[in-house]
Amino acid sequence: MKNTLVVGSGISGLTMALLLAHRGKQVTIVEKLPFIGGYINRFTRQGLRFDTGLHFTGGFGDVLSGMLEILNMQNDVKPAPILTNIMLADRGCNIKFPGKGLDALADSIAASFPKYTDNIHRFYAAEQEVIDHTPIFDIKNYTQADFLSQLTDYDAMTVQEFFEQNGLDAPELQALLPIMSLCHGTPPVESPFPYHCRCAYGLDANLSAIRHGGDAFIKGFKREYARYNVNILTDTTISSLQFSETQPLCTAATLSDGQTLEIDGIYFAVHPAAYVPLLPERLLTPQFKRRTKNLKPTCSFFTIFGTIDDELQAPNRLTFYLENSDLNSILTPGHLTTHSSTGMVTSNDPQNAHTTFTAFRTMFVEDVEKLCEVTKENYRNAPRYIEFKQQYREIILQDVYKAYPQYKGHLHIIGTASPLTCSRFSPPIGSAYGTRQLLAQSRTAGRLPVENCYALGHHAQFPGILGCMLGAFNLAIGG
Ligand SMILES: Cc1cc2nc3c(=O)[nH]c(=O)nc-3n(C[C@H](O)[C@H](O)[C@H](O)COP(=O)(O)OP(=O)(O)OC[C@H]3O[C@@H](n4cnc5c(N)ncnc54)[C@H](O)[C@@H]3O)c2cc1C
Repeated sequence: MKNTLVVGSGISGLTMALLLAHRGKQVTIVEKLPFIGGYINRFTRQGLRFDTGLHFTGGFGDVLSGMLEILNMQNDVKPAPILTNIMLADRGCNIKFPGKGLDALADSIAASFPKYTDNIHRFYAAEQEVIDHTPIFDIKNYTQADFLSQLTDYDAMTVQEFFEQNGLDAPELQALLPIMSLCHGTPPVESPFPYHCRCAYGLDANLSAIRHGGDAFIKGFKREYARYNVNILTDTTISSLQFSETQPLCTAATLSDGQTLEIDGIYFAVHPAAYVPLLPERLLTPQFKRRTKNLKPTCSFFTIFGTIDDELQAPNRLTFYLENSDLNSILTPGHLTTHSSTGMVTSNDPQNAHTTFTAFRTMFVEDVEKLCEVTKENYRNAPRYIEFKQQYREIILQDVYKAYPQYKGHLHIIGTASPLTCSRFSPPIGSAYGTRQLLAQSRTAGRLPVENCYALGHHAQFPGILGCMLGAFNLAIGG
C-alpha cells in the first residue's frame, strides 16, 4: 500500500494524520525534531511541566469538543477553568472576561464604556453572524458543499475598517474588542474581519485552560496512532521527491534516513520554505510563487517561566497586560522597544506539585536578530544576545509586578525563552502564529500545484490549537 505523508507534527499535522488514518490511508508522519508535537510540547524544569505554545484555548463544549469526539480524544483533553482579564496600563483600564458567551462579554466591556453600548454589541453581533455563516463550526454536520460557501458580506473589510464604519473610535475599545488579535497575530489594520472573528470567537465566548496541557493531546494522539498503525519518523526530513512525467503528481519521497517511499499524497503542515524547494519548477504557477514569496510572519514571544509560592494561592488566571494599547504597532515588526503586550498565565495543573507562572511578551524574530546582530544559526552564545535575554527578563518582570504587586518576593523565575528559541521548536520561522492573514492577499492553503500535495497549519489556514485543528478538518472534509 502506498504511503500518505504528513510533514510536520505540530497540532495541525497530528490532527491531519489521524483524520487520514480514519479514512484507511497508510499514514507516515515525518518530523524534523527528535519528538512530535511542535509548539504543543511541554518541557520539564525542576520537576515541573511547562507549556511551550498551548496555555489556553476556546471551543470546549462547542467545536473543539466535537473534533475531540471524532478523534476519540474527548477523555484525554479536558478543560480547566481560568480567570481572564485585560489590563490597558496606559488607559487605567482592567476588564474581566466573563467566559459566558459574546453577550456577556459585550455587557462586561460596555459597563466601562456606556456611551458605546450599542456599538460594542454590534461588534460582537457581527462576530456571531460570521460564525453562524462559517459552516465548519458545526463540525458534525459539515460537508464538502459547505466548504465552498464560506464568504460573508464582511469579507472585504478589515477589523479597523469595521471600527471606522461603526463609530468605535475610542482607543480603549480598539484594543479591548479585538484583544484576541494577540492570539492570532494579524493586526486589526491588516486582518480581514471574518478571519479575526473565526480565530477569536472560541476565546471570546469561553476561554479555558487545558488539563495537562499539550501532554493530554500527545498522549491521546499516540494511543490512536497505535490503533491505526500510523508510522512516526522523528529526526527525519524529506531529502527529495519524485514526480510523474505525465501528470502534476508526486509519486515517491526519499527521506533523510535513506529510505524511499511510494506515496499517494503529502500534507505539508510546515512553512512553505520547508517544502517549496522540493517541488519541481515546471509545476509552480506564477500565482503560487507570488503567494509563497509574500508571506509575512506573525509576532513571536519572549517567555519567562517559574513558580509562585503556594501560600499566595494564586488562581488559574490569564492576564493580557498592555503597556501601550495600540494593537497595530504591537503586532507589526519594528516596535520592539516601544510597543508590546505581555500575557501572564498562572496555572495549578494537577500534573505539577506547585503553582507555575509563565509570562510571554510579543516580539518579532527579525527585531531580535537586528537588535542582537545575530541570526537563527549563530545566536546561542553571542554576548549581545545573552545580555538581551537578561534585560528582557527584567523588563517583563516589571510588567508582572505592575499588574500583580503581590507577586514580588514570591515569584521565582526558572528560565527564559526568546523568539529565537521558538525558531528551534517551529523551524525555520519561529513565529507564534505562522504567517499573517492580510486582506486581499491569499496564503498557500489546501491543494498545491502538484495535485496530490496539500498545505495546512498556521502558516496556511488558522493559528492556535483550535484554528489548526479546524484547518485539518476543513482540508479532510473539503479536499
Ligand atoms: C509562546 C507561544 C504561546 C502560544 N500560546 C498559545 C495558546 O495558549 N493557545 C493557542 O491556541 N495557541 C498558542 N500559540 C500558537 C500555537 O502554538 C500555534 O499556532 C500552533 O501550535 C501551530 O501548530 P502547527 O502544527 O501549525 O505548527 P508547529 O507547532 O509549529 O509544528 C510544526 C512542526 O513541523 C516540524 N517541521 C518544520 N520543518 C520541518 C521539515 N522540513 N520536515 C519535517 N518537520 C518539520 C517542526 O519541527 C514542528 O514540529 C502559542 C505560540 C507560542 C509560540
